[in-house]
Amino acid sequence: MLLGGMFMNDQETTISELKQKVLEFRKKRGWTGMENPKDAALSLVLEAAELLEHFQWKTGAEVKREARLYGPVCDELADVIWWVLVVADSMNIDVSKAFEKKLAKNKEKWPEHLFSKEKTLEERDRAYYRIKAKHRGGHPLAGGEEDR
Ligand SMILES: [Mg+2]
Repeated sequence: MLLGGMFMNDQETTISELKQKVLEFRKKRGWTGMENPKDAALSLVLEAAELLEHFQWKTGAEVKREARLYGPVCDELADVIWWVLVVADSMNIDVSKAFEKKLAKNKEKWPEHLFSKEKTLEERDRAYYRIKAKHRGGHPLAGGEEDR
């Protein structure tokens, strides 16, 4: 493990560099060439569950206050990102492009004006649930929207 200050940080690191580090780690252990996006996605969810374990039986505020949980939460978050990158690699997905496209969809799905501070909590709740209900039930294999 590197000493503090020698680690990469969000400001100076690209997703491509992280992908490269994951790939290098996996190559050195002979873990490449057998990528299965289903297993990687499953691993992603398992790591997300490990992250959640640190929150079990606590409020969010309690977790934030508990300094001993910071490191373990960082570790599990890194594990989740790890598997995000493996899924992306195994399906040849450009994470930044996927993120930007989804952000654009989210902006359209969740119009700012419906959630502005001028709205009451009740109005915002109603808009939230109306949008949730409207988007529920679709499936990408049912036809319609082209994602590629
Ligand atoms: Mg883990």
